[in-house]
Amino acid sequence: ATPAPKTKVTALPGDGIGPEVMDATIKILAAAEAPIEWEFAEAGAKAFERGVVTGVPRETLDSIGANKLALKSPLETPIGYGGKSANVTMRKYFELYANIRPVRELPGIQTPFSGRGIDMVIVRENVEDVYAGIEHMQTTTVAQCLKLMTAPGCERIIRAAYGVALAEERQSVTVAHKANIMKLTEGMMKRMGEKVAREFPGIKAGQVIIDNCAHQLVIRPEAYDVIVTSNMNGDIISDLAAGLVGGLGIAPSSNLGDQVAMFEAVHGSAPDIAGKDMANPTALLSASIMLLRHIGAFDVAEKVEQALFVTLAEGRNLTGDLAPRGHGVGTKAFTDQVISNLGRNS
Ligand code: NAD
Repeated sequence: ATPAPKTKVTALPGDGIGPEVMDATIKILAAAEAPIEWEFAEAGAKAFERGVVTGVPRETLDSIGANKLALKSPLETPIGYGGKSANVTMRKYFELYANIRPVRELPGIQTPFSGRGIDMVIVRENVEDVYAGIEHMQTTTVAQCLKLMTAPGCERIIRAAYGVALAEERQSVTVAHKANIMKLTEGMMKRMGEKVAREFPGIKAGQVIIDNCAHQLVIRPEAYDVIVTSNMNGDIISDLAAGLVGGLGIAPSSNLGDQVAMFEAVHGSAPDIAGKDMANPTALLSASIMLLRHIGAFDVAEKVEQALFVTLAEGRNLTGDLAPRGHGVGTKAFTDQVISNLGRNS
């Protein structure tokens, strides 16, 4: 048979443990015969050091812009090189307004919530709200930060949430908001949720005030399906939700715009363990599985996901963060274990 045509994807190996988890992910995808051709590009610490103030060189922006797809390792935000975040640069440049974070129990990962059937997606608005970073001192003792939310910004994130619900055949979309206090900004998100929901009668529309949402996420997390929310609310509850299923170290995410999709691990560059063959590549590997599904390579995505699940469930050759004390292996040994499990089902 003729091999499937390959999709070009920009790979950003990034900083700290970034190159190690990227290497592991690319090896596993190659062994699974993923139809991807990688184009490597630089961003983060090295770019800052050589004076690229945004942390993202022009060639990298051009590569992502041309391929429209990127797999990104964590990038450091070095202090003292201008202070801009390379992540924020890319998020803004490509208008990646939707941050999608699946939250699901993984086999073999024990948490206080294991066995509850947690399986939800948090859809966080990624470019508006107080994160526009418009702050100033009104007087020497009064600081002000503008919370900017627009109707088109609310509409596209709500639509992104319904897009996820449709694609994954999910039952409900809940808008989490603080409209009881901020009637115009947060209220706009709530009202947009009600308006857009009318177009999707097959999906149950819900709404919840964000503080109650945090409470419900701990009391009965299995009740949630898709949650959509503004930038800061989403920042907080998506980390909370990641904690329910085993923490940030294993959580993947995607950043979607109308043109470009960028997939990444939620964790940072872990400078404390960088270069020591200790990093767990599960988060970036899970992000690559999201990427495979995004490009329609469903069979390969399933194969890689099953190999990961078998590896985690059997608990042999896990990295130190997941293994019982003193029984952890290196990134490379874990990678080989996943590769040897390709073709098995959990
Ligand atoms: P971190 O996520 O890098 O590390 C927190 C702790 O988790 C550390 O003890 C680390 O060893 C551990 N850890 C993280 N990922 C792991 C993995 N894959 N396997 C095993 N252990 C892992 O958070 P931090 O220390 O706050 O941030 C370090 C740097 O990363 C900072 O410069 C920060 O700006 C950057 N950062 C980048 C991103 C991103 O690029 N998306 C996200 C968060 C932080």
